[in-house]
Amino acid sequence: MHSIPEPGYIDCYYSRTLPDDTKSYPSLNGAEEADVCVIGGGLAGINTALGLVLRGKSVVLVEAKRVGWGASGRNGGFVAKGYAEDHHALGKKLGVEAASALINLTKDARQLIKKRITEYKIDCGPLTHGVLTVSWRDNAEAIREDIKRANDRYGMGLEYWPTEKVRTLCKTERYYQGSFSPDDFQFHPLRYVQGLAKVITEKKGRLFENSPVTAIEKDGLGWVVKTAEGQVKAHDVVMCCAVYSEGVNRRLENALFPVQTFVTVTNALTDEQLRGSINTHYPIYDMRYACDYYRVLSDNRILWGGRVAVGNRVKDIAGAMMADMLKVYPQLKGVADAEVAWSGLMAYAPHKMPQIGKLAPGYWYNTGFGGHGLAPTTVGGEAIASAIAENDTRYEQFAPFGVGYAGGKAGRYVAQLAYWVWRARDHFSV
Ligand SMILES: Cc1cc2nc3c(=O)[nH]c(=O)nc-3n(C[C@H](O)[C@H](O)[C@H](O)COP(=O)(O)OP(=O)(O)OC[C@H]3O[C@@H](n4cnc5c(N)ncnc54)[C@H](O)[C@@H]3O)c2cc1C
Repeated sequence: MHSIPEPGYIDCYYSRTLPDDTKSYPSLNGAEEADVCVIGGGLAGINTALGLVLRGKSVVLVEAKRVGWGASGRNGGFVAKGYAEDHHALGKKLGVEAASALINLTKDARQLIKKRITEYKIDCGPLTHGVLTVSWRDNAEAIREDIKRANDRYGMGLEYWPTEKVRTLCKTERYYQGSFSPDDFQFHPLRYVQGLAKVITEKKGRLFENSPVTAIEKDGLGWVVKTAEGQVKAHDVVMCCAVYSEGVNRRLENALFPVQTFVTVTNALTDEQLRGSINTHYPIYDMRYACDYYRVLSDNRILWGGRVAVGNRVKDIAGAMMADMLKVYPQLKGVADAEVAWSGLMAYAPHKMPQIGKLAPGYWYNTGFGGHGLAPTTVGGEAIASAIAENDTRYEQFAPFGVGYAGGKAGRYVAQLAYWVWRARDHFSV
């Protein structure tokens, strides 16, 4: 890990471990024309732009800062099937068949991500397979039953792990049974974004960084997208700004609320120290509402994430994350130390599902991925790109999850309140 992050990114483990030859892109100066203008260079925008150039469309992508600067370049790196909304809740809303169809799209996306990493030789590994979810409660029957239902109804492919097996890997008495998902995996998300961005330009897509879009206006049969120094005329536009844009499209902006979450990365531990604590390279998260998520990185550092907030409520992120880590692994006291800590914003709609669709002819959106976006942003990118290039209607499967009002500031405080209630429930139920 370098001590200095790549310029333009926040200081985090991922920006400190970008290769020295990382590309940056010019800012938008003057007038461009394209079939499609994609706004936002997170994974939603990058996947949309890639899907379009691969289908023969001319594309301009405009990013306010650096590609992957938002949640896409600072997350946990767990690539898992499913959505921020739980599969059982999704089944209750849509029925098992429609919910399964949506979940299957994320399984395909997980495969497509791996294919792209191999095909484009993106150096974002190692891709360790398997994600373990553990319980803070001794609850064997309920967990076994839950796994069986998830496998029978949604083909989730989960394995039940008894407490003894969980504890051979997680040396803590906090945990009991677990659910193991063998086909999910982990990667370095910012290297992945950078890798895809490079492919887009190799396929003649044009990327512009440090160019916040200020307006989108109707222009004949298409649209004109404006920045301070330039503009893009395009037949179609795709908004992929998560919770970072302001005043570009109020309807989309008001349909999401930002939820902040926190991460720290420690010093590198010895193999022996890890064997006595986190004795695995599988990413782990727990089954509480307000969960910890963590993994041992390839250089033996621990990446530890958790908690959520709606404002800047956690002043000492490193201290808070280390306290959470030591609650589970007290043996790491004096062994693991936070070296870098950061936060990021997740974009949530009240229904907790992505918003993928069309506001007006030629005006698309692909956003709202919440805390579970690495595979679903690929689903959204493919759905919108195939709709624009091939009139594919797969995006209509997301019609039940519209762009309704998320409650503005009040919605954010309701979300914070809900989190505190969840934490209290976790506290009294473990
Ligand atoms: C700390 C953290 C941990 C997470 N862990 C995981 C995980 O382990 N697994 C998982 O699946 N998901 C995880 N997530 C969620 C996942 O990272 C997101 O769902 C996903 O990256 C969202 O991608 P996006 O492109 O929609 O948004 P973002 O990556 O936030 O991108 C939006 C982009 O739009 C740009 N933009 C905004 N306004 C404008 C404008 N006016 N003009 C031009 N550009 C603009 C922004 O600069 C930004 O780059 C995590 C998120 C966080 C914050």
